[in-house]
Amino acid sequence: MSTPVYEKVALLGLGLIAGSIAWACRRDDVAGEIRGYARSAESRDKTRKLGFCDVVCDSAVEAVQDADLVVLAVPVGAMGPLAREIAPHLKPGCTVTDVGSVKRTVIEEVAPHIPEGVHFVPAHPMAGTEHSGPDAGFASLYDNRWCLIVPTPGTPEADVARLEAFWHRLGANTERMEADHHDLVCAVVSHIPHLIAYTMVGVADDLSKVSEKEVIKFSAAGFRDFTRIAASDPTMWRDVFLTNKEATIEMLGRFTEELFALQRAIRTGDGEQLHAYFTRTRAIRRGIL
Ligand code: NAD
Repeated sequence: MSTPVYEKVALLGLGLIAGSIAWACRRDDVAGEIRGYARSAESRDKTRKLGFCDVVCDSAVEAVQDADLVVLAVPVGAMGPLAREIAPHLKPGCTVTDVGSVKRTVIEEVAPHIPEGVHFVPAHPMAGTEHSGPDAGFASLYDNRWCLIVPTPGTPEADVARLEAFWHRLGANTERMEADHHDLVCAVVSHIPHLIAYTMVGVADDLSKVSEKEVIKFSAAGFRDFTRIAASDPTMWRDVFLTNKEATIEMLGRFTEELFALQRAIRTGDGEQLHAYFTRTRAIRRGIL
């Protein structure tokens, strides 16, 4: 039996990300005890049935009692109010972390509530699926995936290193990153692709000359592969775009410029430009495993 990295872990929000943390903890005894809380009674009941938490609590305050690690795993917009609610009940010396897809806003909204003597170490596991809720989690979600760690100034090195050790035991690799850079990187590799996937489905649905039946019936690999992530949770993605405004607007601008350039090349019949563009991007894509 392996030694737990934290004795008591509290998971606030019991969806894909928290469920996967719990299952991965169980796989390798990463936590001594896992307590969980979600706002919806339905999620709490489902979690009790699934059995990935040792205790499912009916309040966040009850869940964090005595916890050595508190994980905020709710939509980004809900993190600040949740941090305010639990702050007076945190054990001195414990670590609070989050798994939010955006870091600057989460830090601005959570850090002011963290009491003296408690350490806040923001993190973001770069792993997910289009599924949500307690039954979406699985133990191998983080295997060989990156978890970005975004330490806030003044956090003791030992607390950051301990959270990294936790993620390593869940199967992930870690890298430290500054918050604004994190938000820009994630806008490129995750947020904009989700936005484009949502618009692909929206456009297909808006076309009066192509019926929904035809879209479903003739959906070729391109549309299916490309739009898989458009089935993701709307609350989570609404919060991501509202809280990572600057980076997503900047990246959307770049994306639009490229699309216009390709549109002009198609209109003017500039095959050379299209071929050169696709050759360059194919080489880049083939380098991504
Ligand atoms: P999810 O929808 O599967 O689960 C969210 C859970 O939070 C649900 O149990 C819900 O009941 C609960 N919840 C919502 N508001 C709450 C509140 N105010 N108080 C308490 N509980 C509340 O979502 P998820 O995919 O697990 O995402 C959780 C976090 O992880 C988000 O911040 C998201 O940005 C981040 N994240 C998601 C992915 C992904 O691909 N899904 C990847 C990396 C990080």
